[in-house]
Amino acid sequence: MTAPRSPTAFLAEEVRELVAADLDWKLRVLGGPSEPSCTIDGRKVLMLCSNNYLGLSTHPRLKAAAIEAVRTHGAGSGSVRSIAGTMDLHVELERRLARFKEADASLVYQTGFAANAGLIPQLAGEGDLIVSDELNHGSIIDGVRLARAERAVYHHADPDDLARVLKEAERHTPGYRRILVITDGVFSMDGDIAPLDRIAPLAAEHGAMLYVDDAHGEGVLGRGGRGIVSHFRLDRDAVQVEMGTFSKAFGVVGGHVSGSAELVRFAYNKSRTWLLSGSHPPAVAAACTAAIDVLEQEPQHVERLWTLTRRFQEAMRGHGFDLGTSATPIVPVLVGESSTAKRLSQRLFELGVFALPIVFPMVARDKARIRTIMNAALTDEQLAFAIDAFAKAGRELGLI
Ligand SMILES: *Cc1c(COP(=O)(O)O)cnc(C)c1O
Repeated sequence: MTAPRSPTAFLAEEVRELVAADLDWKLRVLGGPSEPSCTIDGRKVLMLCSNNYLGLSTHPRLKAAAIEAVRTHGAGSGSVRSIAGTMDLHVELERRLARFKEADASLVYQTGFAANAGLIPQLAGEGDLIVSDELNHGSIIDGVRLARAERAVYHHADPDDLARVLKEAERHTPGYRRILVITDGVFSMDGDIAPLDRIAPLAAEHGAMLYVDDAHGEGVLGRGGRGIVSHFRLDRDAVQVEMGTFSKAFGVVGGHVSGSAELVRFAYNKSRTWLLSGSHPPAVAAACTAAIDVLEQEPQHVERLWTLTRRFQEAMRGHGFDLGTSATPIVPVLVGESSTAKRLSQRLFELGVFALPIVFPMVARDKARIRTIMNAALTDEQLAFAIDAFAKAGRELGLI
């Protein structure tokens, strides 16, 4: 008799397959803070792909708030929020976030992923329908999979196709109990903005709830970085669930949901990710509140982000690069083949610029790209350096 196969043999096999297809993640190690001038794998380079849009992860006020909270409240919270882990620091953060978002109430989750995975399956269940943009973020996809509701997908950022799906839903028998329309605010691979000004009236017309994941819109779009609802000057009631994260422009970590007081009360009573997972350490909650202070009191960061975005896009398009449909600080540089994107990224790294390639299966096979993300902390010289590096590498590879 042959020995039984190891029950974990698949682990190494599947990793080998990923490596053979060049689809495995190679982790880059930051030897210090996430700043424009940083150290990656021991090499000094210019960071051009962090989500730390406003440079807040190293802002002195956030660092001071985190240190002070450790002094006054300790290193951990001791429990889940629902039992003994709600500190005054968490309550204060939610109060400040609701004010910033101009919402009745806000709720903070451990991460944005936990917010989507915990709340979506509670908003729509048996007998309901979830209608989702085809390019929505993976955490939304997982949240939708956890729901017992039926699912429909509409073409990316296409209100006409959404209208078609909602009309079809109306003819469904028996009628759906509830319909939830859900979309990213800013799409993370292309940097385009969901047409919420057209989606919101459609949702209202069909009596559907509207849920926007504004992870890449908050701190970036709208008045003082208040996000996509502010960007389109929509009525507060037009979007019933505004979800976001503290892990991107806010520079820390944590997910959140804003809307009516009933939404928040419903959400924390029902979301298992919230009920059954430890709350943020004091330093995290305090640093997030400090990030809101900075957004409210230092509008220059958001302004600087947009100045650099416009300058970068203009220069790159001027050099002949294809930036796709980007309308935000997420600026993809489309190059076609995966191998080209990888070579370009490699060459940029040699030239001192860190920006990772995004390839199939994250994007279509012929839409491989380098995804750059602008950062308010870049100096004019650093931006010029990045543009020069792209132009040099692009010419070498025959892209421009
Ligand atoms: C990053 C991201 C999330 C996850 O947020 P975390 O707080 O990092 O878990 C959710 N949705 C979108 C669209 C994102 O880009």
